Amino acid sequence: LAYTGIYTDWTREAILSEVEKQMKPSRFQHVLRVEACSIQLAEKYGASVEACSLAALLHDYAKEHAVESMKEIVRSEGMDSEMTGYGSEIMHGPVGAYYAETVFGIKDEAILDAIRQHTIGGETMTLIGKVLFIADYIESGRAFKGVDEARRLAEDSLDEAAYFKIEKTIIHLVKKELPIYPGTIYVYNSWIQRKV
Ligand code: GDP
Ligand code: FE
Ligand code: FE
Ligand code: FE
Repeated sequence: LAYTGIYTDWTREAILSEVEKQMKPSRFQHVLRVEACSIQLAEKYGASVEACSLAALLHDYAKEHAVESMKEIVRSEGMDSEMTGYGSEIMHGPVGAYYAETVFGIKDEAILDAIRQHTIGGETMTLIGKVLFIADYIESGRAFKGVDEARRLAEDSLDEAAYFKIEKTIIHLVKKELPIYPGTIYVYNSWIQRKV
């Protein structure tokens, strides 16, 4: 997959080696599987393969950065300060989008939103955003209970698969007695209120 240069001056190969430096090998392999899954979904649902590949390669760029450095970006960029109470889990999407723009020069708002929203989803999501949100959940290395149903749903409908992830994530967090970021609940409410 060669990039055309419309979204970034970076080649795919240069992005791969820069991303690899930011994380442990197992997470880099996850990123590659998310890209492969994103490309399949993009082809199936008619999204831009190049945009979906880029969003996938950059989605967890910030995940292993020091929490203090992420907090610094949340403050300086005026992001929701509530995010800082959840370790890297909630911050790494929005902070990753910041790096996609500042390091890789990506200006396409659909790609940036996809990265920004990839952990909690969004009240409204673009096709690229839904592709990344689902691919991150069902990539071939994922093995949690329910992943097969998520994969089946993604065969027929990105929305059904997205709703499934949103609902199961809330259930998972409650079962684990983990604190739920208000944005996570906001997204759940907006999806369930739309559900027919
Ligand atoms: P990853 O970066 O590929 O591991 O996947 P994600 O970015 O989708 O999710 C990162 C982690 O954040 C997962 O373990 C989610 O369960 C968790 N997560 C999502 N929403 C919330 C939330 O509201 N609160 C907490 N504490 N964790 C959350
Ligand atoms: Fe992530
Ligand atoms: Fe994920
Ligand atoms: Fe991920």
